[in-house]
Amino acid sequence: DADTAMYHAKNSGRNNFQFFTEQMNAIVQRQMRLISVLSGALERGQFLLKYQPQIALRTGKMIGVEALLRWQSPELGDISPNEFIPVAESAGLIIAISDWVLMEACLQGKQWLDQGLTGLRVAVNLSAVQFQQPHLAEKVRQALAATGFPAELLELEITESIMMSDKNAIITLLDELKALGTQISIDDFGTGYSSLSYLKRLPIDRVKIDQSFVRDVVIDPNDAAIVTAIIAMTHGLNLEVIAEGVETQAQLEFLLSKGCYYAQGYHFSKPVGEQTIPALWHSGFAVSRGEDC
Ligand code: C2E
Ligand code: MG
Ligand code: MG
Ligand code: MG
Repeated sequence: DADTAMYHAKNSGRNNFQFFTEQMNAIVQRQMRLISVLSGALERGQFLLKYQPQIALRTGKMIGVEALLRWQSPELGDISPNEFIPVAESAGLIIAISDWVLMEACLQGKQWLDQGLTGLRVAVNLSAVQFQQPHLAEKVRQALAATGFPAELLELEITESIMMSDKNAIITLLDELKALGTQISIDDFGTGYSSLSYLKRLPIDRVKIDQSFVRDVVIDPNDAAIVTAIIAMTHGLNLEVIAEGVETQAQLEFLLSKGCYYAQGYHFSKPVGEQTIPALWHSGFAVSRGEDC
């Protein structure tokens, strides 16, 4: 990436300018290629959603799923959303893609509801770019109305990055979304560039502890302290808290011992196709002590 290119350019002794230029060219070429194939991806039906279960740790029940976007490009293969979402944002493609995600997730949620998966929540990731649109709440209202999916089962995941723009405008938008009845969570909590004071000002229901803190929580005392503090803070603020990226029984037990009762991660399930969710919902997950699944 650009940082690596810069590092090599600074450290490569001779020819470093040429090296740097070649690296930058490669990055720019890749971006341009991505933009050109990404711009036709929606109408060519190359996107799909995978769904990752969210589990109540005291019962093993699936309480919700997070919708995660997948792009299967015939030209470039499978590309991570970590790579193509920022490109879609800068190329002005994210709004159309996000509209599709929202509609698709609500349609799927309604289908599960009709199949008897009562109370199953569906979480959708929102881009900061969507908050630059004044009509975000109206779009969400329309998606709910068109699909018949109940607002209280739709969760909207935002990141701290939205607070980089006009805070009052953001709070107004979030209030409108809350007024519809949707739930709002803060994703990747603790990684963003923002102060804690917004936590009490925003109408949010839930905080998602970022997976970077969960990863080493049982071996790194610093991560343990951060996770413990986030959980205690959410309790004090009357917010729900869910841990992301839970991969082991030991992480799960740490979280339970600190009072975090919800989790999502490979320990339970990777993101799966929609057809897999009903069976997981019915079977539930093993969460009891010492019982690894
Ligand atoms: P995110 O919203 O924080 O989603 C969690 C990511 O962690 C997902 O990656 C998920 O597959 C991965 N993950 C889940 N459990 C584990 C685990 O136990 N271990 C590890 N190592 N990883 C785990 P994914 O699907 O590649 O998505 C990456 C990011 O792309 C998302 O992070 C989100 O920021 C963004 N994204 C995905 N779908 C959408 C979308 O529809 N709209 C927008 N705006 N962004 C999206
Ligand atoms: Mg998310
Ligand atoms: Mg996250
Ligand atoms: Mg993330």
